[in-house]
Amino acid sequence: MLQFGIDLGGTKTEIIVLDPKGNTLLRERTTTPTHSYDAIVANITAMVESAASRLSCNDFSLGIGIPGAVSPASGLIKNANTTCLIGRDLQGDLQKQLHPLLQRPLVLANDADCFALSEASDGSGAGFASVFAVIIGTGCGGGWVINGRLLSGPNAIAGEWGHNPLLWREASDTEIDCYCGQKGCLETLLSGPGLRQQAAQETGLSLSAQEWNTLAEQQDPQAQTVLARYYRRLAKALAGVINLIDPHVIVLGGGVSNLPGIYQEVPKLWAEYVFSDSVSTPLKQALHGDSSGVRGAAWLGAAAC
Ligand SMILES: [Zn+2]
Repeated sequence: MLQFGIDLGGTKTEIIVLDPKGNTLLRERTTTPTHSYDAIVANITAMVESAASRLSCNDFSLGIGIPGAVSPASGLIKNANTTCLIGRDLQGDLQKQLHPLLQRPLVLANDADCFALSEASDGSGAGFASVFAVIIGTGCGGGWVINGRLLSGPNAIAGEWGHNPLLWREASDTEIDCYCGQKGCLETLLSGPGLRQQAAQETGLSLSAQEWNTLAEQQDPQAQTVLARYYRRLAKALAGVINLIDPHVIVLGGGVSNLPGIYQEVPKLWAEYVFSDSVSTPLKQALHGDSSGVRGAAWLGAAAC
């Protein structure tokens, strides 16, 4: 049986096909037609049909990572920033469209959960008993994997760390409105757009994480302050995670996780906030980079069969 995975992103939809050993047989991307739910369903259906046809494959599993969650209460999509998905039965509609090609149950999961499962399965978290993994990119979604299994709760929001507020807040930590309806969520400080907006309020300059990093490497004192504040906020936020569940490893992905200073600075800073005489938690960058979400979706679909 081959393992098909789809990562439905806010801008791109990606498909991967893995053999049972995790080797990639096919990988493609298309633009996500975010204007229309029906177009999203049609696009995913066409990608799966095309891949199955070219690989002459009639027995496969399918997992789909989505920018949101499936409500356990209704079976419908919730918490999606691609808002045309909200309130829709994506699982049911795709299962109908892909019948009779797809013979196995189709599984949907939050994209950050897929990322966590991928990194725990054969990425930077492989071999660790518990993994907390976060994508710090356009958003700030997280997931837990314990003994190789995704943790899922009654509300399907396990690991939604990005919508907690910052702990040990300081005067320089501006409370920005979050799309979730609250103010000052971690996502408004730690995501790529959050870093840009916070730094713009402090300096008047609208720059990306990478641009700030380039300036800091040129010894620009303003950029060094921006990044030092960012590292302290991330350290506080992760210290809260360690105090709560003490994961065996923390893995970071997403565009902002490419800041090289994170892995040196944050573990020095979090000791002040963790309730322990010493902190030995490894902080690692994702091994599979941008591929983690789609690989995790493929693993997830196979695990459900
Ligand atoms: Zn929020």
